[in-house]
Amino acid sequence: MNEDSHKHAQQLFARSLIEGPSPDDRAWLDAHLRECADCAQQTAATQELLHALRNVPVSVPGDLAARTQLRVRLRLQESAQAAGSGAILWIITAASWLLGVLSAPLVWRGFSWLGAELDLPKVVLELGFVLWWAVPALIAVAAVLHQRAANNGTRMRGRTGS
Ligand SMILES: [Zn+2]
Repeated sequence: MNEDSHKHAQQLFARSLIEGPSPDDRAWLDAHLRECADCAQQTAATQELLHALRNVPVSVPGDLAARTQLRVRLRLQESAQAAGSGAILWIITAASWLLGVLSAPLVWRGFSWLGAELDLPKVVLELGFVLWWAVPALIAVAAVLHQRAANNGTRMRGRTGS
């Protein structure tokens, strides 16, 4: 077995996740995986990851959005009296957004795999993918802006009242 056959096996495996290989390729890949522990281990690990990803998008988005909102709201309550701590909120918002961006390639792989499984149009996948990580961040930003406006209103009312 040479270096090329391992590379070929990985390429066939990657392609098999997206579009399904030809019977010949499938047979070759199966034969290679039986003989090659390294490639077998690598493909098994990838399959496990994809399996985990496939189960995640169903339960995570709502939960993630709710948790992000809750975290932002708790922060806002903490800092409602302390002026000038607004920067912390923006750091949290930015961090949650950054996390979304960093996990994007991984999530995208899961989405494209899911799309191949369910035979979904690409535009549906792209939209779903964008919403998956953009929505929690947008909600967080909206919550911050809303709370700021509310705080300003309260402060102004307090000033005119005294
Ligand atoms: Zn191999």
